[in-house]
Amino acid sequence: QPLLRFAPSPTGPLHLGGLRTALLNHIFARKLGGKWILRIEDTDAARSVPGSVQGIQKGLEWAGLDYDYGPGKHGPHGPYFQSERLDLYRTYSDRLLESGHAYRCFCSADRLAQTREHLARAGLNSTYDKRCLSLTEEEVARRLRAGEKNIVRLNDSNIPSRPSTTPDIIFGHLRDAHASLPTDPVLLKSDLFPTYHLASVVDDHEMGITHVLRGEEWLPSLPLHLDLYASLALKPPQFAHLPLLLNPDGTKMSKRKGDVQIEDYIQRGWEPEAVLNWLALAGWGVHGEHAASPSSTTSRSQNHAPDSTKVMSLAEIIQDFDLSALTHRRTVLDPFKLEYLNKHHLMKMYARDDELQALAERIHPLVKETFPQSSYTTVPYIKQAILVLQGRLVTLLDLPNSAPYLFIPPSYNGSEPWAMMAGIPPADGLVVLDQTKKRLAIVPDWNEKALADALHEENDASGLNSRAFMTVLRHALSGMKSGPSVPEIVHILGRERTIERLEHAAK
Ligand code: GLU
Repeated sequence: QPLLRFAPSPTGPLHLGGLRTALLNHIFARKLGGKWILRIEDTDAARSVPGSVQGIQKGLEWAGLDYDYGPGKHGPHGPYFQSERLDLYRTYSDRLLESGHAYRCFCSADRLAQTREHLARAGLNSTYDKRCLSLTEEEVARRLRAGEKNIVRLNDSNIPSRPSTTPDIIFGHLRDAHASLPTDPVLLKSDLFPTYHLASVVDDHEMGITHVLRGEEWLPSLPLHLDLYASLALKPPQFAHLPLLLNPDGTKMSKRKGDVQIEDYIQRGWEPEAVLNWLALAGWGVHGEHAASPSSTTSRSQNHAPDSTKVMSLAEIIQDFDLSALTHRRTVLDPFKLEYLNKHHLMKMYARDDELQALAERIHPLVKETFPQSSYTTVPYIKQAILVLQGRLVTLLDLPNSAPYLFIPPSYNGSEPWAMMAGIPPADGLVVLDQTKKRLAIVPDWNEKALADALHEENDASGLNSRAFMTVLRHALSGMKSGPSVPEIVHILGRERTIERLEHAAK
């Protein structure tokens, strides 16, 4: 059965790159009918940041990416913290020592630094002179007994059948992939903690991982990992490295530049499904990654991947996803597309009463906090307000600010700007306000259709073009130049508030 893993190091909050890796592991596990593990790679105590694991779990939970095994979800391959598996790494290290694929190195840090410098100056592509490889067994035993500090190194001149190329599902075969590796890489440190490489290989094997999906930054380590599998006579899993995430201007997304922490996305009110949709399609829709707007990305790619703004739920993404459609080209994340996707995910949610209810409940506290003086902040009213604003909301958090007039009376800045905006004499504007008020005071049915009819009749009677007529009313009712249609506004405001505002604006 396919088994995947997301293996973050707890070195800080979850960021977009991590979420994308987790998402693709989730998609593939589900797609292949398999499972995935959350494994915490915490063998580097110096780099661990307290609270990171909780942050990662919280981010995954927000996104709805439910791992099958990991912290808090016991399973057959645990424990899921590498710091609780140290004996295992030592066992494997011993195995490599016994079979001659690894050896102990007693060189001091100073000597290592000098050697490295010396080799570099000599123009050699090696980082260690393998001095300790020639120590006799007796010598090693003696120094161990004397309690001398040592590390365990892989002997890179004794790798069984090292392949000349390394396969990757996304990047294909990489040539000369070993060139950038250090000489005889370290497997076990002097404190008996494993390096990332040893721990990763041991765990992927011990846990029975079938597919390793991880960020491109780990691609240079792949040849070393394959060497380790070969030295241990183990079959490696399949590898797929996910291309780097870029900003639209081609720069690398990085923690330093902000905008990459999932916590920020949560705070700013992005819908998790929209963020997942955005991340999944950015590297999958082969065409259009570099296009600036959704409208220019409607073309379909040759391999029938959806374009990068197709609104899809996680379930739909899982159903349609095709690993072979993933590109190794760098993935551009265009924030404009996230806006588009978020708006459309919200619209899908508005169409279902239970989801609309949940959205209204979610935003209720913010609306109340923004308009403490308003009596129009109940959940049923907020539901109506959401429906009136529909596609105007990029995130739900826009609700209070994009239409304050739904909650409190508008303030009219300056004198009679409504007439100026409408391009008519102020006296004509006053007539519109007065006539409309009289008409709306007696409309029998307060529904949108009846209101639209009444307003259109009033418009005809005024002799004004409809743009001017509606502009006067819109301004009186909302204090704004644009927004939902006037009948919609009138409808949600109700008779009393509408009349009040028309009177107030005429003063
Ligand atoms: N612990 C590594 C990280 O933090 C994971 C690398 C891997 O998936 O093998 O990114």
